[in-house]
Parts: sequence; structure tokens; C-alpha cells
Amino acid sequence: MSNPEIPLSVDALKPFEQGAVREGELELAGMNRLAPLLLETEGAARVRLAFFFDEERRRVIEGWVRADLVVMCQRCLEAMDLPLESTFRVGVVDTEAMAEQLPASLEPMVAGKRDLPVHELLEDELIMSLPDYPAHDPADCSASAALERINRDADDGVAEAREHNTDNPFSVLAGLGSGGRGQDGTDQ
Ligand SMILES: [Zn+2]
Repeated sequence: MSNPEIPLSVDALKPFEQGAVREGELELAGMNRLAPLLLETEGAARVRLAFFFDEERRRVIEGWVRADLVVMCQRCLEAMDLPLESTFRVGVVDTEAMAEQLPASLEPMVAGKRDLPVHELLEDELIMSLPDYPAHDPADCSASAALERINRDADDGVAEAREHNTDNPFSVLAGLGSGGRGQDGTDQ
């Protein structure tokens, strides 16, 4: 298979010793925390992971995850395509105390001796890359078009009223007069 599934978890040591590189896909529908934020859960994220020891003998996972997501535009509430890419460099440590000693260039993953939750890492990366307020480019957003239409109509209305007033200064008075007659019924 050209796009193998990324394993749920990997051994805490072996892939680093082997300098393993894993490329593959991760189904969006299987991401329980990300999926509710999406309008479409078909398709898969593309993933690359490289496992190695750095010069300080720290376990490092370097890689990226890319996905073409479909989310709701927060301005027009319609679907919008959201291509996302996150690159990361993770330092795997056994304890919180060790995590605090990692350089800022490494995101800590505190794993103890258990297998490393690779899916969780990738899902976290995607969730962290999501914008707080996803919205279309104003030029492509139907909310902008609607807003423009409202503004234009309002402008037209004002212009028309002005024009009307200039052409016939009595039109407003005439309108009031006819309304008055209609209401008290004296003109029937
Ligand atoms: Zn929109």
C-alpha cells in the first residue's frame, strides 16, 4: 500500500534506535476530538514522522501533518475549505521534571515507559493549528456580499430620498397630509 495507516502508538525506544521514518495517512473520521469541529470527516491527513536521537541523546520525533479540512465559516456559517499544515519537533521524556529541562525548540511529550501515542500527537497538532475564528477571505465570503448589498440598498435609499426632496420639497408634506385625511376619515 502506498499510503499505509500510521500506527496508533509506537514503542518508546525502538523507532528512535532504528532512525525510523513513517509516512502515511490518518483518517479524519477517527479523530474523536477533531471530527466534531469539521463539516466533512471524509478523507485523511497526510503524515510524516521521523524518529531519532539528537546530539544530547534525547528522543526526538520530527515531522508534519497536513490535511484539507472543511469547517464552518464563522461569518457566513457556510462551508469553507481550510488546508492546514503543522510541522513539529517533539522531545520525548519520561517525567514532567525532564520536560521542563527541554530547550524551547522541542515540544515535550511526557511518556514514561509506555508506548508513544502517535495518533494523539498528530490530532493535537491539527487542533492547535485550527484558527480561533475560521472565516472565508472577505472577497469570497457570502456574508460580505450580503452586507455589501444591505449597505448599497441603504445608500440607494438615502440618495433616492435626497433626490426626491430636491425635486419636490412638498412631497413629504403631501404624504403627511394624505395620511392625516385617511386616518380621521374626514375625506371619505
Ligand atoms: Zn464565509
